[in-house]
Amino acid sequence: MTNDNILLTTSVGSFGKPDYLQKARNQNSRGKLGAAELTELERKATLEWIRVQEDIGLDILVDGEMYRGDMVAYFADLLDGYSEGGLVRSYGNRYYHKPVISGKLARPKPMTVEWFEYAQSLTDKPVKGMLTGPYTMLDWSYNEAYPTRRDAALALAEVVRQEAEDLDRAGAKYIQIDEPAIHARPEELEIAIEAMGIVTQNLKAKTISHICYGDFAAIYPGILDLPVDQLDLAMANYEYRWLDLMDRQPFTKEMAIGIVDVHTHEMESVAEAAAGIRKGLKYVSADKLLPHPDCGLKTRPVDESIAKCKVVVDATKIVRAELAKKAVPA
Ligand SMILES: [Zn+2]
Repeated sequence: MTNDNILLTTSVGSFGKPDYLQKARNQNSRGKLGAAELTELERKATLEWIRVQEDIGLDILVDGEMYRGDMVAYFADLLDGYSEGGLVRSYGNRYYHKPVISGKLARPKPMTVEWFEYAQSLTDKPVKGMLTGPYTMLDWSYNEAYPTRRDAALALAEVVRQEAEDLDRAGAKYIQIDEPAIHARPEELEIAIEAMGIVTQNLKAKTISHICYGDFAAIYPGILDLPVDQLDLAMANYEYRWLDLMDRQPFTKEMAIGIVDVHTHEMESVAEAAAGIRKGLKYVSADKLLPHPDCGLKTRPVDESIAKCKVVVDATKIVRAELAKKAVPA
């Protein structure tokens, strides 16, 4: 095991949007800025985030999702079979239109592949392909078209599979299929697992699923049957208590471990974050443990997103050095 491929650092997917892009999105939604101009600014912001991630020293990069608002609505807008629903409240005072599955689902064309290809063209480091999983798509939508939630989940799995296979063909080394809603109804975990199996069945890429806020204990150890190589988990916000579950039932996948909280602008110390990595190392070996922030950073301003990722990288350097020392025979 060389020091180069242990404790690879990464992030969950989204970053804060720069002010000029936020402004442009608002103008676009009021009809005051064209789609082409908006896309140009989204590309500019993507390029900036790729450079920033390289500067910070992250190992596995993301495109930052400058082109997305909500992680479900983005895909719902691009899929056939979806229509826009009424306003519902999400976290804080944000409201969004909860999408409605109102007809047969189909994917008229790729939804993220051009963004992946653009981001990957800007760097020699791997960029993750980034999708929302079928169960979360289902749980954050109204289903008015399919007889059961399972039927709708499997139909969603089919369109997500098509997108994932296109990312695979486009050369994505990692494909992340986010399932933050997976513990919403633990009795439906089997549906989520069946749907994910459809998405990942043919992929050559390493597969990842991000799972964050909710009762992880309710889906553990069943979640180990989710057919992905890596689970990407929020831990810092929970003071690492989910790791205790692994005393009883060993963890069997790679783990991306959240070592900084994304819901506070307070900054963890590097020492605290390093302690988080050491906790993870009790359960997962260093070649299978990937330090990162708990969740997407889109709710944080740009400077805080950067500062949080720097803490991750600096903490990892400390622990890597400790492991290197241990590896040298006395
Ligand atoms: Zn998350």
